[in-house]
Amino acid sequence: TQRVVIIGAGIVGTNVADELLLRGWTDITVVEQGPLHMPGGSTSHAPGLVFQTSPSKTMTRLASYTVEKLLSIEKDGQSCFNQVGGLEIATTPARVEELKRRHGFASSWGIESRLLNTQECLQLYPHLDRNVVLGGFYIPSDGLALAARATQLLIERTSKAGVRYIGETPVTAIEQKDSRVTGVTTPRGTIPADIVISCAGFWGVELGAMVGVSIPLLPLAHQYAKTAAVPKLAGREVNKRINGMNATLPILRHQDQDLYYREHGEQYGIGFYGHRPMPVVAESLGLTPKHVDEKNMPSRLEFTKEDFEPAWNESQKLLPALRDTTIEDGFNGIFSFTPDGGPIVGQAPNLDGFWVAEAVWVTHSAGVARALAEVLTTGQSQVDIGECELSRFEDVQLSRAYINETSAQNFVEIYDIIHPSQPKESPRNLRVSPFYSRQKDQGAFFLELAGWERPFWYEGNRSLLNSLPSEWKPIERDPWSAKFHSPIVAVEAWKTRSAVAMYDMTSFHRFEVSGPGALDLLLRLTTADVNTKSGVISYALLLNNHGGIRSDLFISRLDKDLFQVGANTATDLAYISREARQQEKWVQVRDITGSTCCIGLWGPRSRDVITTISPDDFSNKSFPYLGVRNITINGIPVTALRKSYVGELGWELQTSAECGGRLWDSIWSAGKNHGIIAAGRGAFNALRLEKGYRTYGLDMNSEHNPYEAGVANAVRASKWEDYIGKTALERLVKQTPTRLLRCLTVNDGRSMVLGKEPVFYNQKAVGYVTTAAFGYTVRKPVAYAWLPSTVALGQIVEIEYFGRRIKATVANDPLYDPDSRRLLD
Ligand code: FAD
Repeated sequence: TQRVVIIGAGIVGTNVADELLLRGWTDITVVEQGPLHMPGGSTSHAPGLVFQTSPSKTMTRLASYTVEKLLSIEKDGQSCFNQVGGLEIATTPARVEELKRRHGFASSWGIESRLLNTQECLQLYPHLDRNVVLGGFYIPSDGLALAARATQLLIERTSKAGVRYIGETPVTAIEQKDSRVTGVTTPRGTIPADIVISCAGFWGVELGAMVGVSIPLLPLAHQYAKTAAVPKLAGREVNKRINGMNATLPILRHQDQDLYYREHGEQYGIGFYGHRPMPVVAESLGLTPKHVDEKNMPSRLEFTKEDFEPAWNESQKLLPALRDTTIEDGFNGIFSFTPDGGPIVGQAPNLDGFWVAEAVWVTHSAGVARALAEVLTTGQSQVDIGECELSRFEDVQLSRAYINETSAQNFVEIYDIIHPSQPKESPRNLRVSPFYSRQKDQGAFFLELAGWERPFWYEGNRSLLNSLPSEWKPIERDPWSAKFHSPIVAVEAWKTRSAVAMYDMTSFHRFEVSGPGALDLLLRLTTADVNTKSGVISYALLLNNHGGIRSDLFISRLDKDLFQVGANTATDLAYISREARQQEKWVQVRDITGSTCCIGLWGPRSRDVITTISPDDFSNKSFPYLGVRNITINGIPVTALRKSYVGELGWELQTSAECGGRLWDSIWSAGKNHGIIAAGRGAFNALRLEKGYRTYGLDMNSEHNPYEAGVANAVRASKWEDYIGKTALERLVKQTPTRLLRCLTVNDGRSMVLGKEPVFYNQKAVGYVTTAAFGYTVRKPVAYAWLPSTVALGQIVEIEYFGRRIKATVANDPLYDPDSRRLLD
C-alpha cells in the first residue's frame, strides 16, 4: 500500500482519509497545523448550507454524494446532515425565469425539486414577506451540513481504523527526489510519503509554492452574521435540540440581493456576498495559535459592520420578523475562490505524487474526496471531474494577476444570472491569433475562452443577409437564446455550405510528439493505430482503464518519429507529457499552439481557392481525406491537414505565428473570386452538430464509453498493440449500451434550446441535452442528448426549456451527409 500524507484536517482532508480507507489504503497520516478538535480553517466556522443544484452535472453529483454521506455519519442517533430542504426565492421577473432554468438543471441531473408560487413559498416559509416574493424553487433533499461535527466524527472513525492524525504541526516543506514526492517536512521531523495530498483549503497557494506550482485560488473574506433571538422563532421545540440540528425551516437563498439564511435555534444566520471583494493572503495570517475557539481562529477576521449594512436592510425587507431583533455577532470568514468557480483537484504537473483537493465547498467535500480516492486507487472516478482538474488552467491563467482578478469577479457574480455564453469582461485580449487585426477590421464579435479571443461572427457579413436565400433565413429567437448570437451566423453557415469560408482555428490545442519513443507512446495511450505511413491523420481516443473517454484527438503522422496532436484541453497536454516522462524510450511533447496559427478553409470551393495560391497538388489522389502534407502557400511553409469540423471539403492550414498575417491575406484575396467570407464559431458549432461531430467535455466525458457516445469509429479493432482501456473495450463492445448519445431535431422547427435541459419521455425526465444549435442546413434546431437506449429512433421526446415543453424527435445521426461525400469528393 502507498504511504499517504494528507495536509489539513478540514472537511476535505478528513473525507479523503476516510474514502481512501474505504478503498483499502491503510498507511495514512493527516498533518494539521491547528489543534485537531478545532483546526481553525474554513470548516471550523462554516454554516454548512448545502444547495445541491448547479448548472454543472459534475458539481451536482458531488453535492448529492456529500448529502448521502453526511446522512450516513452518525453518532448518538444523530447524523451530520439536517435535511431541512432548500428554498431559492425570486424577487424579480428575471429571477423567476432563472429559477425555471435551475429547476431544469435539477431535473437533468436527477434531483427532485419543485417550482413554487408565492403562496406556496409562504406556506413553506411563513416569515417571508408576500409582497416581495414572486416565486420559489424548492429542493427537499437540500439542507444543513454539520461540517465541524462531521470532521470530528471522521477523525474518530478513521483514527480507530489506523489513520494517524498529527495536530498542531505545520508542514513547512515538501520533500522530493527525481520529480517525485518523498515526504513532508514538519518541525517535528520528516514524514516519508509516496503520495502527498494537499487539502489545505485557502492555504493551498502556500503549499503549492513549496513545490513551485501555482494554485489558482484566491482567499476572500465573506461576511456571515448572527442575529440576536428573533421573537417569532422563540420557544419552539427545535431550539432545544443538540449538536446544531437546531433548524426546521428550509435553508433560504435570496440571490437577487446576494443573501442566504439559516436558523440557529432562535437566531438567524445571514450570509452576504454583496460586499466588496476582500482578498486575503493566507501567509499573512501567521501560524495557527495553540488556542483556537469559536471566536478566535485564523479563518475568522473581524466583522466590518459597514459592509453588512445593505444586507441587514434587505434582510428586514424580505423577513419582516427580523425587524424585532438586531445583529448580535458577525465575522468576515475566509474561504477560496477560483477563476472559474470550480474546485481544484489533481496532480501537480511537475511533481509526481503531489496531489491537491482545494477550493472545495463543504457542499462538494465528500464528493470530491470520493472522486480523488477513486482516481488514486483505480485511475478513474465515477463522476467525471475534468472540470475540477488542476491542469485545466492554461499558463496565462496561472499568473497571480489573472487569478486574483478573475476569482474576485467570481465572488462578485456568485449569485448573478449568468448566460452560458457570457464572456469575461476582464482580463481580455490575453491571447489573440495573428489574424486578430484583420478580424477586427471585419467586425468580429469575440468571445473568450482560456484567454483566447475567438470570433463568433463577423459584422462585416451583415450585408449578405439581404442575399440570403429564403430557405436559409434565420428563425426569430427567444430573448435568452438570442443573447450572444446574431442572425449573421445564418449567412456564415450558408456560405460555408455553398461556397467557402475561413475559420480561425488557432485556439485549438496543438502539440508535437517527437523522438524515438513517440510512436510507442501514442500507440500505448490511444485507440488508433497510429503506425501509419507518414502523411496520415488518425482520429483517436484517450481512454482510462475502464474504457471511459479521457479525450478525443487527431493525430497526424508527419514523419517516422514526429507526430502532431490536435487535442482538447491543457489537461490532455499534462496527461500525455506525464506519460511521456515515465516512458523509457525518449519522447518529447511540445506545445506549439501559441507559436503556430491555423485557418480552417472549408466549403465546396475551397479547392478552387487553395490551388490558386499553392503549387502543390490538392487532388483526391495525391491529397486524400485525412491526409496531411507540407505545402507552401504564397511562399509560406504550411502544414495542411485535409479534415474539417464542419463536414465540407477543405483543409486546416497551419503555419508559424509570424507568417499568419500573410497566410490570411493570401487566402482572403484568392478567395474573393469564389465568394469567400470569414466565419465564426456560431456557424462552426451549428455545422459540426449537423455533421454529428462530438465536443469532448460537453457531449461526452470519462463517464461514457465510445460505443454509447457514438465515437466507436475511433477504435481500431484490428490494432494488436495493447493500449490503455483496450481490455475494458473488449468487454464493453459485447454489451448492449443502456444509454446513448442521441441526435434530436425540434419538431416545430423554431424552438431553441441551448444545452443542459432535461429531456422527458412518457412524462419522466430520462436524460439531458448536451449541446444544441440551430441547424441551418436541416432548417430546424438540433440537440444532442443522453437518453436511455430504450428510447428508439423516431420516437418523440420533450425538452424542457424555462418550464416549457418542446417536442423533439430522435433522429438519425448524423443529419448531414452521412456518407461523407462532401468530405471525400
Ligand atoms: P479548511 O477547513 O480550511 O481546512 C484546511 C486545513 O488545512 C486547515 O485546518 C488548516 O489549518 C490546514 N493547513 C493549512 N496549511 C497547512 C500546513 N502548512 N500544514 C498543516 N496544516 C495546514 N461552504 C458550503 O458548502 N456551504 C456554506 O454554507 C458555506 N458557508 C461558508 C461561510 C463562510 C463564512 C465561509 C468562510 C465559508 C463557507 N463555506 C461554505 C465554504 C467552506 O467552509 C469551505 O469551502 C470548506 O470548509 C473548505 O474545507 P477544507 O477542508 O478544504 O478547508
